Order: sequence, then C-alpha cells, then structure tokens
Amino acid sequence: MAKASTAKKYVFLFGNKKADGNGSMKALLGGKGANLAEMTRIGLPVPPGFTITTEVCTYYYANKRTYPKALQAQIEKGVANMEQILGKKLGDLQKPLLVAVRSGARDSMPGMMDTILNLGLNDQTVLALEKASGNPRFAWDCYRRFIQMYGDVVMGVQKRPGEEHEPFETVIENLKKDLFAGDAHVEDTKIGAEGLKELVVRFKQLVKERTGQAFPENPWDQLKGAIGAVFGSWMNDRAIVYRRKYNIPSEWGTAVNVQAMVFGNTGEKSGSGVAFTRDPASGEKIFYGEFLMNAQGEDVVAGVRTPLPVAKLKTTAPHAYAELEGIRKILEGHFKDMQDFEFTIEDGKVFMLQTRNGKRTGLAAVRIAVEMVKEKLIDWQTAVMRVPAEQLDQVLAPVFDRNAIKAAKFIAKGLPAGPGAACGKIYFNAERSVEAANAGEKVLLVRVETSPEDLRGMIAAEGILTARGGVSSHAALVARQMGKVCVCGASALQVDYTAKTLSVGGQIFNEGDYLSIDGTAGEVYAGQVKTAASEIVQVLVEKSLKAKESQTYQNYAQLMQWCDKATRLLVRTNADTPEQTANAIAFGASGIGLCRTEHMFFEGNRIDAMREMILAEKTDNRKRALAKLLPYQRADFAGMFMELKGLPATIRFLDPPLHEFLPHDHAAQNDLANKMNVSVDKISKRVHELHEFNPMLGHRGCRLGIVYPEISEMQARAVFEAAAEVQKKGIKVKPEIMIPLVGFKKELDLQVEIVQRVAQEVMKERKVKINYLVGTMIEVPRGALIADEIAQTAEFFSFGTNDLTQTTLGMSRDDSGSFLGAYQELEIIKKNPFATVDQTGVGKLMHMACELGRKTRPDIKLGICGEHGGDPDSVKFCHHIGLNYVSCSPFRVPIARLAAAQAALADAKIGKTAKKSKKR
Ligand code: PEP
Ligand code: MG
Repeated sequence: MAKASTAKKYVFLFGNKKADGNGSMKALLGGKGANLAEMTRIGLPVPPGFTITTEVCTYYYANKRTYPKALQAQIEKGVANMEQILGKKLGDLQKPLLVAVRSGARDSMPGMMDTILNLGLNDQTVLALEKASGNPRFAWDCYRRFIQMYGDVVMGVQKRPGEEHEPFETVIENLKKDLFAGDAHVEDTKIGAEGLKELVVRFKQLVKERTGQAFPENPWDQLKGAIGAVFGSWMNDRAIVYRRKYNIPSEWGTAVNVQAMVFGNTGEKSGSGVAFTRDPASGEKIFYGEFLMNAQGEDVVAGVRTPLPVAKLKTTAPHAYAELEGIRKILEGHFKDMQDFEFTIEDGKVFMLQTRNGKRTGLAAVRIAVEMVKEKLIDWQTAVMRVPAEQLDQVLAPVFDRNAIKAAKFIAKGLPAGPGAACGKIYFNAERSVEAANAGEKVLLVRVETSPEDLRGMIAAEGILTARGGVSSHAALVARQMGKVCVCGASALQVDYTAKTLSVGGQIFNEGDYLSIDGTAGEVYAGQVKTAASEIVQVLVEKSLKAKESQTYQNYAQLMQWCDKATRLLVRTNADTPEQTANAIAFGASGIGLCRTEHMFFEGNRIDAMREMILAEKTDNRKRALAKLLPYQRADFAGMFMELKGLPATIRFLDPPLHEFLPHDHAAQNDLANKMNVSVDKISKRVHELHEFNPMLGHRGCRLGIVYPEISEMQARAVFEAAAEVQKKGIKVKPEIMIPLVGFKKELDLQVEIVQRVAQEVMKERKVKINYLVGTMIEVPRGALIADEIAQTAEFFSFGTNDLTQTTLGMSRDDSGSFLGAYQELEIIKKNPFATVDQTGVGKLMHMACELGRKTRPDIKLGICGEHGGDPDSVKFCHHIGLNYVSCSPFRVPIARLAAAQAALADAKIGKTAKKSKKR
C-alpha cells in the first residue's frame, strides 16, 4: 500500500463550494487567497483554483529562488481539481483550461506585484478557444493579452530608459495606424479578429527581438514561468518602495493564486468591474464602482478606457446588477466591513474574483465605522479599532476656501479620487516631481495615467492629476490610500510629455506652472487657490460652522466620544501660546504637556531682551534683561492658565540652544548694539565667545539655570505670579514646573531649591496657596539610568524623546536627514526614530526609567512630550509602558486620542483571550 504523503501542505484548493482554507488564513494564503476560499465556502460564485502559500515564497528567497520538492506534485493536483470541476484540461486541443496567475500578499499591495491572465493559450489552444466560443475576435484578443502580459512580466519586455511608452503599446499603436489610416486613437475594440492575429505575430516578434527567445508554447512551462515571476515580483523595486512606505515586513512574502479564467470579453453580454459596497471616498452607503462591457478586469483598473459607473449596469445588464446587489449585501453581512470586490460577467453570469476590506479615505473610514455601529453590523469598540489613527489627519486636512474657489478659473472636470484640496507646481514625471519636492516645492504630479513606476513621484507630490482612468485606476487607489488629493480621468487635458506642456481649452500650462485640484469635487483650477480648514476645524477651532450643520463633524465627535470611553492614557498638548492652548483643548487635550518657554521670546522686542540676557557678561546686566522678560512671561502664562481653566500645565524652564537666539550677521549685531547702547565690536566679541561647536550638547537645558540661577528665579516668579493672578479670579491653576536635560540628581536639586523658594515668596506676597508640582524631563541616557535617584526629588518625569533619541543613538536630530533615508532603504532601521520611538533602544531606556521612578515614588506622574507623542505607534508603546499621558502638537491631539483608545481596547481584548485560555 502506498504510504500516505506526509509532505507539508503548500497548495490549498478551492472550488465548487468547498475550500481547504478560509478567511482567517491571510498570513498563509494572502488576503486574496484566504478570501477566495471564504467566498467559495459561503456559496458565492467563485471560479475554481488553488493558492500556493506564502511559505513557498519565504522558501523561494531563502533557497536561491528554488521551490520545496513537494510543491510540483501539489500544483499538479490543484490543476487536476480545476480540470475535473470544469471538464477542461490544460493544453487540451478541444477544451483547453485557461488560468489566471495572481499575487496576493497578506495586506493588499494594489498594482505592485504581477498578474498573468489567459495562461494556457498557444497557437493550437487559441483555435480551440475560437471554436468553443464561436467568437474568433475574443479568442485572439485573449491570446494577444496573454503574450503582452507574459512578455512584460515573465520575459521582461518593458520600457527601456528614456522610452515614455510600453513597447507592447507602441506595437498596438502602430498596428492601429496601419489599419485605420494613420489614426492611433481608435478604441481597441475596433480591431477585428484578423487585426488581432496580426498583433499576435507582431508581439511574438517583439518578444524574440527583445529577449532572443521564442514565446513558450507549452502551458506547463508557461505556468512555471508565471509562478516564478509572481514570487519574483515580491522583490521588485516598486513593491519594495510600497512595503517601506506601509511598513509591510519583507518576511511576509506573497502567495500565488492560480484560478480558472472567466471572460468578460466574450461580447456585449459580458463585462468586468470593480465595486465597493460603500463609497470609499465619502463613506456613503451606496453601491459604488465601475465596469466596462466586453472587457477583462485589467482594462477597468488600467485606466486605458474610462469605465462606466456601476449604477449604469442596471440598464445594461439588469440581471447581473440584481445579482451583484445581492452579493453586496451578503459580503457586508459576512465580512462586517466595507468590501472592495472584483467581478466578471461572462455571458450574463456573475463571477467573483476577489473581495477584500476596501481601502478608504479618512473621511470614509470615520463615517463607515460610525454608521456600521448604527446599523448594528459592528460594536463601538470595533468602530474605534477600524479607523487608522494616522488617517484622522486627512479628516482634518484643508479644503479650498469657498470664496477663493468662486473666483478661481475652472479649467477641467475629472473624477473625485482622493479628497482634499491641493495646489502646486505641475510636473509631468515622477523623477522631476521628486527632485522638485526635495528642493522644497509643492508639487502636483500630472500624468496621462499613472502606473506603479510613478510611486515615488506620487509620494513626493501634494496631489495627483491624471487625464485618463476611473475611480479605481491605479492613481485613484494609491492616492486614496496615501491620503493624497487626486483628480483622475480629467479627459479635457492634453498632456504632452515631450514638450512638457498641458493644454486645455486653448490654454497651455508649462511644467512649473501652478494648478490647484479639488479631489473631493474632481475639479481642476488654474493657478494657486487658497485653501480653507476642514469642517471639523471650522466647528472646533474657527467656530465658523455649527456642529449640527456638519455631518462630518458629528461622526468625528461620536468617534472621539467612544475613544474617551475606552482610553486610559490621557492626551496633552505641546503649546506655547494661549491660542494654541485653546485649539488643543477644542481637540480634546487634557492639559499642556510641554510649554517651551524659550518659544515665547521669538517675537517683536522680546527677542532683544532675550539676546541682552544671553549676551550679558555680568549678573547685574543679566538681571536687568531678565526684569524686562518677566512681564512678558507672566502675561503669557496667565493667558494660558485662563484657557486651561484648571487643567494642568507643564511649563519647562529655558532650554534654548544658544545659537538660536544669537545675532549672527553684522546688521543684526549692529541693530542690537544700538538698542543696548554698546559698541558693535563688543557684541560681536561676545557672540564669538559664546560660539559652540555643538550647541545641542552645549550650554543649554538646566545648565543655563545652574550657571545663571537668576534665570530660573525669574521664570519661577513669572509662573507663580501668573498663577496667583488667575487663581484670584476664581479660576483653578495647576502649574507643573519642568527642569530640562537633567542627568544628575544634584542638577535637579539645585533648580528645585530655587523654585520652592520663589514659590514660598510669591505665595506669601500674594497671600495665596498654589498647588504645583516640580519634575524633570528624562532626555539624556544618564537621566534614565539613575531615574530612581532623580525620582527622590522629581514629582513627575516627562520623556523628551527628541533629545533622548538624539543622545541615545548619537544622531543629531537636525542633521540625520542626510543618512536616515539610506538607513531605511538598507533596513538598518524600519522607521525614522525621530518620528516613531525606537522601541528596542530608546524605548528600553524609557521602560527602565519608568520602573526605577516608580520604585522610588510609586505614584510618580509619567508622560512624554517629544514629537513621538503624536505618532500612533509611539502612543501605543507609551500606553504599554504605563505612562499617564502623551503630549503632542494641537492638530495631532485627535490622532493621539484615537491611538490611545486603540491601545486600551487591544489590551482589553488580550485580557479577555487570556482569561478564556486560563479557564480552559
Ligand atoms: C525633547 O527633547 O523631546 C523635547 C520635548 O524637548 P525639545 O524638543 O524642546 O528639545
Ligand atoms: Mg529636549
């Protein structure tokens, strides 16, 4: 008896309502494979096929691009299963089986990897297809598409440097010119069967010319080549760029799906489409999407022909439309999320080729999450988890100013593909867009249509404008996901890549001219149009719109209310003015986590007094300058306390790297000399004396107050006098004084002594009692290492992760831009450590400092005020190490609130699972 095979399972079959896999197996089968299995299981019409697992991809790269031994036999079984279900055979001369070979990673990477359709065709099987379908045009159209895709993807017949067009497209254009009296713009569908036969011949010639090899005839060879190409495409340049942007680990690998072909191009009763169960741009609950009759799926997304809105199917193919409406409901009911699906109608019958959770704009994410709770599809906790925190940024993004847009010159209409308003100089290719953006320009990338090669340019641009393509074109999909403003299919635009011009309605725009695009309305305007704040900002900050007039605001407010129910970690703000404080409170901040007092001295004649103070050589002079600064500080603090109405305010004592305040050029030195009534030489000598080679590690932070205690004295006085003044008005005040850059306990002790003394003095003078705390920043490694000692004095710690990152990594926060890019490309670091906490390094110090601090002072208050406080991943990390709050810039407060709530909900979920497994 044959021994049962014990080989690992590399191939998972699906078809005929049965599937080896299911929707939960995304890590192994990729998103597409897992959902094909799931859709098969729930009885949706899915053509049969099989999925080769992501483990094979990992094996392939770990073993010099070879496959596990057991794979071939399992693939053969997979093909046999399809053959049996369909009564067709690969390579058969009567009933040939044709397949599609597609990639499918765990997270979708739209358009980044390769696909091959119509595989199995050759000079013989095409005749069988012709006979079986009774449609020669269809058969030859499939064949030429196959050669085109396979030639491109597997055999590498692609654009060479300097070529603007794909070589296969050039062959098509030339054929059209030959067939239609020099007209290359005739639609592809006008080329008849004979024309397509000729195209096949020319395509094969092109392949031979470019590769030196004949096009493979054997379907099994074709299949092997296609599978290899799809695995190979995991490491292509655009997939790597995409993974880096979205932090998809390269170890995940892709799966390969081999699936029986169904045809949307057999005639006018057939078609292909892409649809969403709700509008992915606005979130509205409508059946949204587009289709093309007599076309394969690739035509819909390629942007070559502009597709029709799915609602039109109602009249074009009413039965198919009704079936799709039914499927739309089943999908949402089953997957409990907005789905983005691909379908094909073959002679009136609907087939499902893919479904996945649809990518959506921030606006849509909030609306769908809130409305699905109302519809009882999901609970509020799921709704909070559903909205990517970073996406809230888009909801707060600007729109065009209503009056400015009325006055602007409208030049073209396109499709609204990525919401928001953007304005910039136009560039016609990705490379030049990147260069211009690097030079600090705001860029609009303008293309006839985009392709994955344009990715870098799309990342660099403020917005994207295309002349061709629908709302599911490459440009639209990628823009939506990146949160880029995008208008696509603005067909009145004529783009000339060679002349670098865009003409529309008799007007010509050159590269470098300004255009403005409205990705919410799909409109294009000449010149620069002023932008206005989002509705949420209008309601909360500008107060120019009433809450009840804005559905967007109401959805946002509902989401934030749920966040507050879940969260443990509070969100404060980094603010230095009463206005910033008010904005942050409107966004839900629960206090100030960092007031950088030196920022209060940049304006007007304040900087003169500040400079006088810094340049002073003697204590008396310094005290005189400080006396000028005191009233400014006191007034600012009072203004902030008034806005805070009893919420805490962490006020950090001066921490300016001195060079930021010194007058460096002669004119400024002269000006200051006049004001101070001293000679310019004296000023320039003192500036020279104070010059530091490394100001970030120089005389800054508490070192200033240590050497010049009168500075800290003035600041303490300003804080307490302001507190007394506001408290007397009946408004509560909670100052928390923070000493920066502490690495030695004695540093803190000396400063705290001053604060306590001045506090006593002011309280006595003003006859008030003020509740306050004194604490420190932990922002140099020594501070973290001796946090237990420091906590003997400090009543709170706030992690200054900007400096802590700089000093732990030994990387200048101001100069690391020149090499961090290379570090990320080489995957030395996954993310910019100045944006997202380096958890294994800096994070370890933070964790340790928290534990040491709590050991000495169990109720010590812990926070973070570096830029990381507004970064969702870092916020989640802060939750895990048990901080009390994060502090970030006012406009990032909602993002941090959402991230904090998500961290708490994730914890609760883990808790539940742990309890369950304990019970077991
Ligand atoms: C920090 O270092 O993280 C911090 C908040 O202080 P600053 O950025 O002002 O140095
Ligand atoms: Mg700092």
